[in-house]
Amino acid sequence: MADYHPTDEFLIQFSAGKMPDALGLMIACHLEECPRCQSRSRLFEQVGGELLQQSADQPVSDTLLANVLNKLDTPSVAVDEEIPHTSQSIIPRPLQRFIQPDYAQLKWSGMTRSIKEITLPFSDKQYTAKLYKIAAGKELPEHTHCGNEFTLVMQGSFSDKAGYYRRGDFIQADSNTVHQPKASEDQDCICFAVLDDSLKMTGFFGRWLNPFL
Ligand SMILES: [Zn+2]
Repeated sequence: MADYHPTDEFLIQFSAGKMPDALGLMIACHLEECPRCQSRSRLFEQVGGELLQQSADQPVSDTLLANVLNKLDTPSVAVDEEIPHTSQSIIPRPLQRFIQPDYAQLKWSGMTRSIKEITLPFSDKQYTAKLYKIAAGKELPEHTHCGNEFTLVMQGSFSDKAGYYRRGDFIQADSNTVHQPKASEDQDCICFAVLDDSLKMTGFFGRWLNPFL
């Protein structure tokens, strides 16, 4: 089971159908791998009406969120079960209609010989969606993020100073994150990444403006 999950705030937005396409697809892919979040998101759907009213123009109140989370005390039987994978289900179902069924058939373009990428067709105004492939045992240069970057591990695993991430893990990085992801030695690591471009701009101008504010 995944060790890193989207926040409840995200699961609530997803359950209410209020996620931008790129991020919504990523959460749908995570849910395929994660009985814990499936169960939470089902509950959020059940209480959707109440939550929708609250979250339309303002963040969900802490009390309401706490009430909903209390209902999770009795998890469904499926919560701790591992979902079995077959060779037919290598690519998460929500992505299957956008890409070839086999990672080897995809038209990867090279950033370097050991790092390849593909821009996915559902990028929108707010988010750019990509697949990254880091060759086994290789690492990205150390970097930080101007905006938010969400990553979902789809094949293999990688690690950085903060942790070790496997298939299904949902990782959020922001401008406070400085990291150098390294793919595990056993196989190439393929990740689905969604980058917040508009926040990148805010971050860029923010750094110039902050000293004057
Ligand atoms: Zn989860």
